[in-house]
Amino acid sequence: MLHIIYREEGNLNTGRKPVGQKAMRQLYDQFSKQIKTKAPNTAVSKLTDEEEQEAASIYIRAKYENKEEIRQAIAKYENQNSEVVTTTTTSFKRNNIVASLIKQYRGYKCQICGISILKSDGTYYVEAAHIMPHHQGGTTSLYNIIILCPNHHKEFDLGRKKVKYIDTSSVEIMLNGTVYQLNLI
Ligand SMILES: [Zn+2]
Repeated sequence: MLHIIYREEGNLNTGRKPVGQKAMRQLYDQFSKQIKTKAPNTAVSKLTDEEEQEAASIYIRAKYENKEEIRQAIAKYENQNSEVVTTTTTSFKRNNIVASLIKQYRGYKCQICGISILKSDGTYYVEAAHIMPHHQGGTTSLYNIIILCPNHHKEFDLGRKKVKYIDTSSVEIMLNGTVYQLNLI
């Protein structure tokens, strides 16, 4: 799937053109089904949340075409009661699916500095931070998740901060003396 995505996306920087991968996708689907038959719910639960979100992003990139579809998927999953979401090929913790969807929704960019980390496979790495921590009952939802680069994630978790919700659509975060207004819709 990484190869398929690599070919489909092309690369603006190097001028490598996108190449359709319809036949490869059919092959992928065919083998995914066989794997599922042999080992249902292929476990990804041994992964860390960040690792599982990376795995989920492969599935999400393949499944959702545009921002509105992602928005609807977030709405569908964020209030669901089940802990686990089973896709055609594997199971993910629902929270990780939602976090991964929100990363895609935000264009894999840090909401503070706009940076994302380019990976060798051509995709981007960012992290999902809970405004109210998960262990304090904070939900994994558009309202409580901001997408950050690893540096800002650590600063957000460890730094001196004040959080003020403006309304349901934006939050003001004062982090080590600097104020950032972040979008929540
Ligand atoms: Zn950042």
